[in-house]
Amino acid sequence: MNAGTSFLETPIEYLKGVGPQRAEALKKELSINTFSDLLHFYPFRYVDRTRFYKIKEVKEEMPYIQLCGKITRTEILGEKRRQRLVAELTDDTGTIELVWFQGIKWINKTLSPVTDYIVFGKPAIFNGKYNISHPSIEAGTEENKELLKGLQPVYSATELLKLKGLDSSGILRLQRTLVPQALKHLDETLPAWLIEKLHLLPRREAIRHIHLPANNEMLMQAQRRLKFEELFYLQINLLRHKVLREQAVKGYIFPRVGDHFNEFYNNNLPFPLTTAQKRVVKEIHRDMGTGKQMNRLLQGDVGSGKTLVALLSMLLAIDNGYQCCLMAPTEILAMQHYATLKEFLGNLSVEVDIITGSTKKSGRKKILEKLGAGVLQIIIGTHALVEDAVKFNKLGLVVIDEQHRFGVEQRARLWQKSEAVPHVLIMTATPIPRTLAMTFYGDLNVSVIDEMPPGRKPVKTVHRYDNRRSEVYAFIRKELQQGRQAYIIYPLIDESEKNDLENLVNGYEEVCKAFPMHRTAMIHGKIKLAEREKIMQLFAKNEIHILVATTIIEVGVNVPNAGVILIESAQRFGLSQLHQLRGRVGRSAYQSYCILMTPFKLGADARTRIDTIVRTGDGFEISEQDLRLRGPGDITGTQQSGILDLKISDIARDGVLVSQARIIAGEILNEDPGLTMDKNKIIAQQLFRMDREKGNWSRIS
Ligand code: ADP
Ligand code: MG
Repeated sequence: MNAGTSFLETPIEYLKGVGPQRAEALKKELSINTFSDLLHFYPFRYVDRTRFYKIKEVKEEMPYIQLCGKITRTEILGEKRRQRLVAELTDDTGTIELVWFQGIKWINKTLSPVTDYIVFGKPAIFNGKYNISHPSIEAGTEENKELLKGLQPVYSATELLKLKGLDSSGILRLQRTLVPQALKHLDETLPAWLIEKLHLLPRREAIRHIHLPANNEMLMQAQRRLKFEELFYLQINLLRHKVLREQAVKGYIFPRVGDHFNEFYNNNLPFPLTTAQKRVVKEIHRDMGTGKQMNRLLQGDVGSGKTLVALLSMLLAIDNGYQCCLMAPTEILAMQHYATLKEFLGNLSVEVDIITGSTKKSGRKKILEKLGAGVLQIIIGTHALVEDAVKFNKLGLVVIDEQHRFGVEQRARLWQKSEAVPHVLIMTATPIPRTLAMTFYGDLNVSVIDEMPPGRKPVKTVHRYDNRRSEVYAFIRKELQQGRQAYIIYPLIDESEKNDLENLVNGYEEVCKAFPMHRTAMIHGKIKLAEREKIMQLFAKNEIHILVATTIIEVGVNVPNAGVILIESAQRFGLSQLHQLRGRVGRSAYQSYCILMTPFKLGADARTRIDTIVRTGDGFEISEQDLRLRGPGDITGTQQSGILDLKISDIARDGVLVSQARIIAGEILNEDPGLTMDKNKIIAQQLFRMDREKGNWSRIS
């Protein structure tokens, strides 16, 4: 393509200081095959060795810092096996403790009272005193001071690489050799007008300063440039595919608002819609009238009334002569939807049925026949509806509840079930942070129900240590006496976990003993579906007062009279799980309560999760926090597939850049949909190159 390509494609073993053995290790461990690969292997953090701090300046919240002083005392403390080495570092302003838990003897031997040391590490407070544990420590010779000066990039290296002499500083040495010769071969990947408009560093400068930052300011600029570039190409790719798909795929047009919708709206609606529900129904109606195929993500917190919106949308499809299907993540939920829709519809003439794992063969056959003949208008079920030999007559709308991992592939499978592509409405109560939605659901439109039905009181949430269980039980007893019901949740993350099951069963026995006057039941995944269903029905009818359960009731279950949820071992649940569980209560006009019970000792992340749930009921805030704690891959389940291979940007932290990249990508495609204008030539070339390298990587939603 140009003169530079061949230099950058040089095999890595030809770089000075590499050779065949190290090349082998670099390939195996880091997939670095060429000069170009090494150049694009960025440091994962930097340590600031631009200055020495005085000991009296040290504060707990400081990141890694550098001190200089003499070791004035060393001491080995603690019992055998759990010993630690404590050394006192002193400069002319004070002293601070250095602590080692490993390699104690060896370190103790090497420390000398006459040497000046450079100490590098992160300060913390322990027993009211500052210390630094496992600092790196070097003799403060003039040579070392020179070598360690400035911003030091840190590269991740594996054990094998370290064995070959390629630890972080070994890799840095290679970069120092490569970067100066390679820069002139690098092509620019963003158009000049865009670089100017956003005041970005040119690519060559950015690559230089990402590896060998002159100072903090240049490093930040280099990061901004490279992050923007990465996010920009991600977004423009997504938008491009969205546009292409919208052009290629025709959607059914549902122009009519007919008898079913109107009759339901005028006669059956049990309560007025909230303003937010009305707005969303309008958005959906508008979507389904455009001739484009609708792909809409409906976000609304637990209890915000998404089911009703789904039903109204389905009635629109039915009014236009089409069938609908409603998919739920679990069978319990599917059955509950069936009951709810039946009740909402009353005597309205709409044919609804349900298929689950426990539907008998004969019944199933009849249902499928009716579906194929177009008699059945709404079919409810689980994912099995996609996989199975389920044939529709005229499938016009698919509603997917609580399943935002329902990706392009599954959607594509549904498409085969009708002549044209049905409209798709995906509902979720686990709000996805906006930046993440923009990225992972780039091809979906988003509606939000941001309002609760009137009269709901926010759930009162508290955290209690488990030594206060009897107090908590007394509180629950009081609520039960006032006619409410309660959930008590035990963690059973993995159904095969024997300990968990034991805890659950023991817990259940304890509950039975503690509440002799009330009817209790237990459900978990190992109990047969029919049995579970029976228990749920009894609970819904208030014939069972306390339901001891696992997260099996996490999503969707709706028993408005349940006013208390006690979550045992709450530290073991994820944030969105806790939020979903809490959503099981607070569904009526009564005050509801959520009690998070934990042992006294809690890890930092667990404490953050508990504090977050206690502090806020805002699903968006919770999901932002979740994203920060867990990272995006975990939330969307895309990490394993490696599709979103971000080298430098972080969807959770770089939200502002994500939005900026999204907006600019949109503007460019608006003006120049085919990217044929001269000023966008570089973009077209780069996309072409990326398509070739990565295949169809943009299909990630
Ligand atoms: P989610 O959005 O969590 O799926 P649901 O659809 O289950 O919420 O609704 C929660 C409860 O609120 C149900 O009992 C439902 O009947 C009720 N509900 C829905 N919309 C309204 C409304 N506009 N006014 C009052 N109650 C409503
Ligand atoms: Mg729901």
